[in-house]
Amino acid sequence: MTIRAKFILALLVNIAIAIGTVGIVANELLMQRFDAIALARSARNFRGDVASYWLTYGSWEQGQKVESLHHFILRRGALLAESAAGSAPRPGIASPRSAAVDKGDAADAVAIAPWTDQPGTGIGPLGQPNHRLDQLGAMSLLDPPPPARLGSPDDPHGTPPFVFVLFDHDGHVLNPPNQSGRIIPDAKRARAIAIDVRGKIVAYALPQGRLNLSGADRSYIDAMWQSLAIGIAVASAIGIALGLFFGSRMSQALRQLTAAVRNVRDGRLAQTVSINSTDEVGVLARAFNAMSEELAVSHAKLKEQNRTISEQAERLRDLATRDELTRLYNRRYFDEAAERLVALARRHARPLAIAVGDVDHFKRINDSFSHAVGDAVLRQVARLMQDAVRSNDLVARYGGEEFIFALCETELAAAVDCCERLRRTIERFDWETIHPGLAVTICIGVSDDIGAGTLDRMVSAADRQLYQAKAEGRNRVCPANAVRPSAEVEAQAEAAL
Ligand code: GH3
Ligand code: MG
Ligand code: MG
Repeated sequence: MTIRAKFILALLVNIAIAIGTVGIVANELLMQRFDAIALARSARNFRGDVASYWLTYGSWEQGQKVESLHHFILRRGALLAESAAGSAPRPGIASPRSAAVDKGDAADAVAIAPWTDQPGTGIGPLGQPNHRLDQLGAMSLLDPPPPARLGSPDDPHGTPPFVFVLFDHDGHVLNPPNQSGRIIPDAKRARAIAIDVRGKIVAYALPQGRLNLSGADRSYIDAMWQSLAIGIAVASAIGIALGLFFGSRMSQALRQLTAAVRNVRDGRLAQTVSINSTDEVGVLARAFNAMSEELAVSHAKLKEQNRTISEQAERLRDLATRDELTRLYNRRYFDEAAERLVALARRHARPLAIAVGDVDHFKRINDSFSHAVGDAVLRQVARLMQDAVRSNDLVARYGGEEFIFALCETELAAAVDCCERLRRTIERFDWETIHPGLAVTICIGVSDDIGAGTLDRMVSAADRQLYQAKAEGRNRVCPANAVRPSAEVEAQAEAAL
């Protein structure tokens, strides 16, 4: 699941929980309030009805002989409804706080007001036409009255919001008649509403049951739920839009960071992520940029140091294995490499020749032409020697003006041919290019005696042949055995002349 999806989901869950909580709490509070208001209203009406009943008949017992409380309430309700239908108070009809009530003559007073809770709204006993009611023309009190007063003013069905149980001082139920004689427990009496007539409590009313919502109440609640539903829809839309906006920004930033991290992993260390937000992602991006820059700088330094170290290592290796003047291998390298060649040749019984060369009268060259010319001669001799051997042969400067060769897979005769060709090449080189009057020759002693056993012994044998060559007059190749250069080499030499 992407971060954007998680973000939106979290917002929606949050919104749903918030709305659910608000809905439940609002509903509960609203219903409690409805309950309280309806109870207070019903209690007012009932108290008015009972007080009026009392005033009309003087006592409960007297009233019961004439008509039931229920019937009285219906009659009174009808009369009040009729009165409420009239727009203005009629002559002779007192306001709720009527003069009759104020005077305390409530039994004769017909103080009519819709839903009045004034106990003085007496309506006259049943069966005795009340001249005031006649004046109103409201109804014949002998007819069964309509049930309009049973419900709340806006309830067309007349369903009472609450039912009240009426009981006397001792807790004996007076009304409804079917519960007559029942005693209300003390605990319940505490919740009862006292009904007083002229300052004297005559009975108590105990509300029963829960609120019975009227049509208007239901429409209020429906309106509340509709507002909540609209709120839910708007909040969800805003939540999704915000989730998409912030989620997209966050995923875009993270995608940028991820791409930059991948680039670093692939070796492109200098990365810059352009996220300028001040949130955690922005802080992360800036930290990443700084880290990437430091990494790139450190890496460049490290690379430079590595290059220097490699160059120095190469130079050291070169110094350790090469002669600085001639660039041929030095004696140490030759000894190590040639030892291996001798061992291999002995193991596989293959031919190997060792040759030692020495420039003739080199001291004289130095003395006659200068040490620098001597150096130039050594460099040129080295080049000619390197060119004369195969790539897998070894040639090295053995010291001073002495050189040494290890010729692999070479019999003595072939080695003599190779050395003879070299000797002649040196002899015939145009040394005048280095210095006028300069001439250079060399002597070479050759040995192929693998049976000697060691490199040292082979070198000693070749050395002896070198001295032999010197002794014989210089500028010659002297092999260990009496081997002459081949006819081919001789012919080449002749042709070159
Ligand atoms: P021979 O024919 O018997 O070999 O005589 P030679 O003069 O060549 O031999 P000798 O051993 O008497 O002299 C070798 C000289 O080589 C002595 C030394 O000063 C010179 N020499 C050694 N190394 C170098 C070098 O690197 N450069 C130069 N220019 N001269 C060198
Ligand atoms: Mg020498
Ligand atoms: Mg010499």
